[in-house]
Parts: sequence; structure tokens; C-alpha cells
Amino acid sequence: MCWRNERPALPHGRATAPAAIGFRKARGRVPASGAPVPEISSSCKSCQFCLPLRSPIKMSTQTIESETAREIISYDPATGEEIGRAPLAGGRDVRDALKRARAAQPAWAGLSFRERGQVILRARKIVLAQLEEIGRLISRETGKPVAEAISMEIIPTLDLMHYFAHSTERLLRPQKIDIGNYGLMGRSSQVIYKPLGVVGIISPWNFPWATPLDEVVMSLMAGNAVVLKPSELTPLSALKIGEIFKQALLPTGLLEIVTGDGTTGAALTEAGTDKIMFTGSVETGKRVAESAARHLTPTVLELGGKDPMIVLADANLQSAARAAIWGAFCNAGQACASVERCYVHESIATEFIDLVVKETRALKQDKATESNIDVGAMSNEKQVRIVEEHIADASSRGARVLTGGRRTQNLSGLFYEPTVITEVDHSMDLMRNETFGPVLPIMTFKTDDEAIRLANDSIYGLTASVFTSNMRRGRRLAEQIEAGTVMVNEVVYTHAVAQTPWGGVKQSGYGRTHGRLGLLELVTPQHIHVNRVPLVPDVWWFPYSTGAGLLFRRLARRFTTGSFLQASLLLPQMIRRLLERRQ
Ligand code: NAD
Repeated sequence: MCWRNERPALPHGRATAPAAIGFRKARGRVPASGAPVPEISSSCKSCQFCLPLRSPIKMSTQTIESETAREIISYDPATGEEIGRAPLAGGRDVRDALKRARAAQPAWAGLSFRERGQVILRARKIVLAQLEEIGRLISRETGKPVAEAISMEIIPTLDLMHYFAHSTERLLRPQKIDIGNYGLMGRSSQVIYKPLGVVGIISPWNFPWATPLDEVVMSLMAGNAVVLKPSELTPLSALKIGEIFKQALLPTGLLEIVTGDGTTGAALTEAGTDKIMFTGSVETGKRVAESAARHLTPTVLELGGKDPMIVLADANLQSAARAAIWGAFCNAGQACASVERCYVHESIATEFIDLVVKETRALKQDKATESNIDVGAMSNEKQVRIVEEHIADASSRGARVLTGGRRTQNLSGLFYEPTVITEVDHSMDLMRNETFGPVLPIMTFKTDDEAIRLANDSIYGLTASVFTSNMRRGRRLAEQIEAGTVMVNEVVYTHAVAQTPWGGVKQSGYGRTHGRLGLLELVTPQHIHVNRVPLVPDVWWFPYSTGAGLLFRRLARRFTTGSFLQASLLLPQMIRRLLERRQ
């Protein structure tokens, strides 16, 4: 089927014109493998973009041999230059990848945590050795500054690799369960954690390194194999992950990378993996959940956010202002946990806003290849248009742009000026829907209750923050906010803390990644129950004699109280019951 004719509007708004910035199906050429330029497909003569590839496509972790595979092209959003190409895997490719992963997984699960950890630590060393190259690749695929690629993507993953390589055994240690009075009957219970099998990971473009790699590492440490489907906008970062694990001698098949678009992702949700770890938009998350439900595949959904920041009157204003602009403009505002709504107490609003505007105007924006850049390009045209629509809607309803509010004039790529906007309210798209761009809308409030009500007035609930010099008050407010993570005097960053759980409530999704809670998503708990006195029959087994009926009534009254003393008062009746059964 012709993709171009079927979906004239590109999924992420990157244009099809040859000189334009973005993503499109390629004229089936794979320079890296030196494959010949194929002829036009007889099934789709009208479309110059849909050409079947005639030779095997080389991928970093596998070779896909498919007549139907196409390519995707990765572009630098700051310049429009092509960076490289990757295959667009079809349904058969995905199913084949899953088969290879299934075949490889049991032997991997049979290794000790230490042996698995050694592979992760080898991969970690390789990442460190290639830090500059990886930083530049992430930066070019996304438009973010190299410094940010290192600070927000590579450092957190290095930390996470270290943590899970060393701690997974402890975190998944079998757990003894206190079974109360059943223990008196010679019983014991334990929960052990077994690998799931094959985990399907579907990831977005905004953190093309950290998001998939974190989940790959945790899945592998838990004893699973992985099939990873990265975003069509950033396939090369994911292929680099595959290359690194290959160099780290991860056994073949344990990490299969199927590059492609939404159709590839949909094929993965239908393929029958044992779990789907999805990170992306709410809209796609719902589709993934529907598809997974048909197969009863458990899912974790890490979706969008509209994260609030509350600045109380007693906050350190300088620090809160700097946190607000970093929280709103890092990653060009394209972080799921970006500060997308700022609520400041009316008594300090003027001073706070002045500081924010001053700090914002001092930010340097340019191509990621330049040094000393604070804010880079946005990653795709569709996202820039959403930002423009939100600003236009808010402005038409009376909002005031204090700085920014337009595409960056002297840069030709996908740049939008860091924007501070006030006199906003909750009737505006800007305060209700995910903007996902460098925009900081600021509203005032009068009381703590009003601040909480505003923060909770959202369909989202990923992260939130409260700024105050009173830690107790900060914690009290934090507990009232509906969000998966609430930070006091911090913004955005806890995704980088491998030990802490990450995930949302409401439409920001369900399930967790990172920390022990995240690890538990990647294993099956199995309850092992042992009766150490198998010669003695249970009192609740047949026959249901008159004596049994009497004992059951006493059990109901005494045994279920949880009291050892009360239960032990039943011992004589229990012994009589056992003797009765012997007759
Ligand atoms: P997206 O939903 O468009 O795409 C995400 C991934 O899903 C891509 O790999 C895409 O190819 C794939 N996909 C598309 N259609 C699919 C389908 N029908 N079935 C299966 N897979 C499909 O999201 P995006 O634009 O790449 O990412 C931005 C969104 O991700 C934002 O909403 C952001 O808030 C969210 N996000 C959330 C977190 C988090 O931890 N909660 C982290 C990063 C990004």
C-alpha cells in the first residue's frame, strides 16, 4: 500500500519537499550497505517514494531480508540536512525479530544477575568511550545542544546502567511473606520474580537515547529479551544502542531493533510480546492499549503531561525563576515533564516575572553544532505548529507575550523563541493541552487551596513542583497534587534518578519505569507456598462432618482475628478433627 497516497499529511509534519526538514519514505537506497538503487515498484508506480528494497538491509543487531521493507530518513531539524537512513520494518520483519528474541531469551534468563550485569557494564564502558560521538548524534537527530544530550540523556543512562547492573539481584531477591496464623500450621510463602520473556519497547523522539536505553537495560537485567521500535524521527540513535550492545557481546537476538513508523509500532503491539513498554502521546497510547487489550498483553503507558509549577510567596525567587526557565525551555520544551504551567503567588508575581523574562532573554539559541548554546531547535514541524496555535489562541483571548512568541527570525531550521506569556487562564489551549515547546505561561493565585485546585485542573498528572522555603508546607502541598511525581524546590529531573519510580496518573498513563517499581513491571511474580507437614491433612478438607461445621464456626470467630493466642485456643478442636478423620 502506498504510504504517501494513504497519509498525505506526514505523521510528524516533516515535509516531503526534497529540501525540507523532516522525515519521509526514501527512494530505496541504503548507502551504508552499498545496496543498489532499486527499480520503481510495479505495485505503486505512481509513487516515487514507495520502492521495495531488493537486497538485505544491514541493521546493527540483525539483517532483515524483506521484499516489503522501506527506508526512513533521519534529518537534522536545525539545518534540514540528511543524517542517515534506516529500514522501515514491516509486520513480517517485526514477527521475525520477535521469533529471534524468543529463541535467545531462555539461555539469557539462565545466566546469573552478575553475568548479565557484566554485559551491561561492558556496554556502559563503550558508551563512555564514545561519549562525544553519541552526544553529537543525539544532538543532530533532535536539535538539542550537545551539552544537553550529554547532561539529560547520556549521564542518566550511565548512572542507570551502573545501578541496575549492580542492584537488580538485590531488588529482585525472593521475598518471604508473613502468612500470619497459617505459619503455625507449618506453612511458608515466598514470592520469586521470573523474567517475562520478550518485552516490546516503543519509544518517542524527544529522548531518543535515554528513554529506550533505560528500558532496554532494565529489561535485560530482569532476564528478558527486547524488541525495540524507536521513533521514526530518531532511528539512528536507537541503532547506535544496538551497535553498542553488539560490541559489548550481548548474545544475538536479545536486542532486536525494528526501525519504522507507526505501522511498525502497531505491528509490534499485535505480535504477541509479553509486555509493551510504550512512551509517547496520549492519542497513540490509547491505540496501543486497545491493541494490547485484544491480546491481553500487559502494558506500561508513559504518556504526555501538562506539568504545573507552584511558586509560594516564601520561595527563593532567583532560584525559582531559574528553575522555571530551565524546566520550561530545556530540550526546547519538549520533555514530557516540562514545566508547562507556572502558578505564582500574587504578592511576588511582578518580581518573579521580571526575573523570568530577564533570564529568558539571556538564553542563547542556535544550531546544536555551535558551542555555548542553551536552547536548540525543536524536533519537528508538527510540534512547532502546535506551539504557534497555542500562542495564537491564547493571544486572541487576551494573553500577553512578554518575550518570544514567534519562530526564531535569524535561524532557518525548526527554531521557536523561548516564550514567556502572562494573563493566561484555563479556558486556553495553552493551559489545557500539551504544548511541548519552549513556552512558559504564568498565572497568579491567592491561596494555597487555589494553587492546588489550579494544578489539579488538568487531564494530565505526570510531574509537578512546589517552590517554598518551608519544607513541611512544601510536602503537605505536594501530597495534595495529582501527579506521579511531585518535587519540592526541583523541576523535571527525577527521570534521571534511576532509583526512583517514573510514571503518571490520569491521562499521563499507568505503570512505572525506573526504580524497584519499574523493575517489577518487567518480571512475573510467582508465589511459592510450601506445606512442611504434608502427612497431616488440612482441617478444611472433606468430610464436612458435624464436628467440622463446629470447628469452622470457631475458626471464623478466632482464627481470622490474626491473634496467635485466639488461634491457639482452637488447638484441642483441631486435634479432635484430625482424630475424627482418622476413624
Ligand atoms: P507518538 O505517540 O507520536 O509516538 C511514539 C511512538 O509510537 C513512536 O515510536 C511511533 O512510531 C509509535 N507509534 C505511532 N503510532 C503507533 C501505533 N498505532 N501503535 C504503536 N506504536 C505507534 O509520540 P511522539 O510524538 O513520538 O512523542 C511525544 C509524546 O511522548 C509527548 O506527548 C510526550 O509527553 C510523550 N512522552 C512521555 C514520556 C513519559 O515518560 N511519560 C517521555 C517522553 C515522551
